[in-house]
Amino acid sequence: MKKINTIIYGATGSIGSSTLSIISKNLKKIKVEGITCDRNVSKLIKIANTFKVKKIGFNEKSLNNNKHNLKKYNTFNDISLFHNIISSKTDIIIFAISGLAGIDLLSKVLMSGKKVGIANKECIITIGNKFHYISKKYNTKIIPLDSEHNAIYYLLKHNLGKYNSITITATGGPFIHYNSKQLKNVTLKQAIKHPVWKMGKKISIDSATMMNKALEIIEAKYLFNLKNDQIDAIIHPQAIIHALINYENGVSTAILNKPDMRIPISSIYFDFNKSLNSEIAVNLSKYNNLEFIPIDTKKFPAIRLGYEVMKMGGLAPHVFNYLNELLVDLFIKKRIKFIDIVRLNEVNLDIIFSKNPNIKNPKKIDIKNINNWIDNNLYIGN
Ligand code: NDP
Ligand code: MG
Repeated sequence: MKKINTIIYGATGSIGSSTLSIISKNLKKIKVEGITCDRNVSKLIKIANTFKVKKIGFNEKSLNNNKHNLKKYNTFNDISLFHNIISSKTDIIIFAISGLAGIDLLSKVLMSGKKVGIANKECIITIGNKFHYISKKYNTKIIPLDSEHNAIYYLLKHNLGKYNSITITATGGPFIHYNSKQLKNVTLKQAIKHPVWKMGKKISIDSATMMNKALEIIEAKYLFNLKNDQIDAIIHPQAIIHALINYENGVSTAILNKPDMRIPISSIYFDFNKSLNSEIAVNLSKYNNLEFIPIDTKKFPAIRLGYEVMKMGGLAPHVFNYLNELLVDLFIKKRIKFIDIVRLNEVNLDIIFSKNPNIKNPKKIDIKNINNWIDNNLYIGN
């Protein structure tokens, strides 16, 4: 049987590790063709040796050649070259680079005509309305890996008819029971300690501000071509239900599974035909209380802001997304406080759109120009 050839962009991260953990149990079926990272080349090479990968990509420029003995590999030493890892043999591409750094790469991956598992929500939002158009034009099959969107994808495969709306769930993050006063003094260490998911730094902070859910609402709009009022979110701390499709006749459908990213990721390799192992199954008798709580948008203004930019359309969802990336970075560098991440996003959105037009169907150059403007004019107070 021919092996599935796969490339993992972002192999050294959290999604990358979950993907490799699935592959390690299926080496007879899956071959890793290429892997990439940013600078963690030591970890990348360990993975390359374990999985016998020849093509490796990284951004680190000052490498000690002797230490890493790179001659064994076909190297791609800049993200602008990573698309060259794709070959006629490639079957499945996992796109798990964090943040907006991979935007140009993703645009090329969307033109590959391959099966693409995409975890990165930031790039989907920035590509926006064009996401569908490009992947359709090039016959690229998109499978969302974000757990909520993966659930929606499979629920819609068994679509029961006309639906009114889609609901995604949120755990509420580490600060669900904090009051506004407590939120003021949150530290980085507290913010990255997620109660349910073990994830990379940026998405963990996004979960703590609930910016992650705001971004996921916009992600769902673009992935599934939804109207703004067709998508909502609710807090469900146990994270057993990830999404619901709400049909016109009052029936809702949902998929239940444990919060484990290996489940959505394995769906791209095996559809739903293979169980990972029995301990991963949901045992409802162990949950005596599945909770559903409306989101307090006063405490978590990211959700309100997310809807506002979605209604504004044009450049606004990208600007919201881009500002968040810059502000999360400033929080990591201890230059702003936790609550400033969302507060300053709103302040800057007002400034930006009072001085720049909101271009309706932004092109790549419009995104570049607004990013430059923001880089030069970002307001973070005194
Ligand atoms: P991590 O921070 O754990 O990993 C990020 C990966 O991207 C690493 O391999 C990193 O390399 C690489 N990377 C970062 N910056 C660059 C760059 N400039 N150029 C090339 N490679 C880069 O993130 P996660 O795995 O948690 O998340 C990845 C994406 O998936 C995010 O967009 C996130 O929102 C999304 N996602 C994640 C979930 C999760 O459970 N983790 C769930 C749902 C969505 P290096 O190791 O060298 O830094
Ligand atoms: Mg998610």
